[in-house]
Amino acid sequence: MESIIPFLDLKRYPESLKEALREKFTSMLDKGLFSGGEEVSLLEANLSEFLNAKNSIACSNGTDALELALRAMDVGVGDEVIVPAISWVSTAEAVCIVGAKPIFVDTDKEGLMDISKVIGLITPQTKAIIPVHLYGKMVNMPALMQIAKKHDIGVVEDAAQAFGSKMEDKAAGTWGDLGCFSFYPSKNLGALGEAGAIICNQPDKEAKIRSLINHGQLVRDEHLMIGRNARIDTVQAGFLNTILPYFEEWQEKRKKLALIYWEQLNSCSWLKLPEKQTQESYNYHLFVVQTIHRDKLKYYLQEAGVQTVIHYPSPIPKIKAYTQVLDYPESVRICNEALSLPLNPWLKTEEINRICNLILKFDI
Ligand SMILES: *Cc1c(COP(=O)(O)O)cnc(C)c1O
Repeated sequence: MESIIPFLDLKRYPESLKEALREKFTSMLDKGLFSGGEEVSLLEANLSEFLNAKNSIACSNGTDALELALRAMDVGVGDEVIVPAISWVSTAEAVCIVGAKPIFVDTDKEGLMDISKVIGLITPQTKAIIPVHLYGKMVNMPALMQIAKKHDIGVVEDAAQAFGSKMEDKAAGTWGDLGCFSFYPSKNLGALGEAGAIICNQPDKEAKIRSLINHGQLVRDEHLMIGRNARIDTVQAGFLNTILPYFEEWQEKRKKLALIYWEQLNSCSWLKLPEKQTQESYNYHLFVVQTIHRDKLKYYLQEAGVQTVIHYPSPIPKIKAYTQVLDYPESVRICNEALSLPLNPWLKTEEINRICNLILKFDI
């Protein structure tokens, strides 16, 4: 029996990194500083440098980042926010939490918000658009920003899956008024727990976001607005500072492994591979293939010891808590046909080859 190929196994972090993380924890324990402090400021500086952003604000997680970004844009009751029909549920959840209404737009055949359909959904109530760089592939931001500008609508980028993606040499998360990141462990840049960040491209919003994250105060005991506790965990900030230097190398590895998939599976006429992006606008967060034989393929790979994941089984407007009546034909099709194959920096070339050989032998 051959060994199992995991979808993502974080135990495979390189030994050098594990040792650096242990050292980081030991030094933080010795300093006794577990909230705020230099690791948090250092993380914010590191993120700004890496993304070439003016202002990075670390916070508790990606979902809170979205919620606070919407509140910072004054999105609330009576407002509509256009979101793609396919995403992790947080994108729509954040809209509902601030009291606004998510208006879902169907996706293109790759699963990204269909920009050509956005214009038809704009109403006088539309306050913001949340483009999601799904699977790490960037939405056409120049085009979307143009639409938003023309209609005077705010843009909050959900870049949770797109750390490291760029378009026209401008990083995902730095295009919109605000950009949101998640450092959930399974993302391309992941902490050892929960963490996130808001990239603030509008200087006048920074103070508000910092207040919202910390009970409405910038100065202790001066609560200027109703905020909450959405601060980043200092230990996670320290871990992220330790992990970030590994990021570029991991991206190279993802790209190399993805190329093997493209080369070897190209001949499978029944399998649609993700559109090959030679540009930098895809960080290879997920490698999602599409086939009408999806469920059978998933079962076949599982029996052969290969773990795959379905991102996502249902468009958000078809989920009970979010039901909307409109049709989302492309999103429905993708949710029935999409399958994420293992792709991460800790997979071996032999493992990708084994997956490809299995798929080539799959009897449709
Ligand atoms: C992961 C993710 C989020 C939420 O981030 P958390 O840190 O898990 O709260 C939001 N949107 C998308 C598209 C995501 O993939």
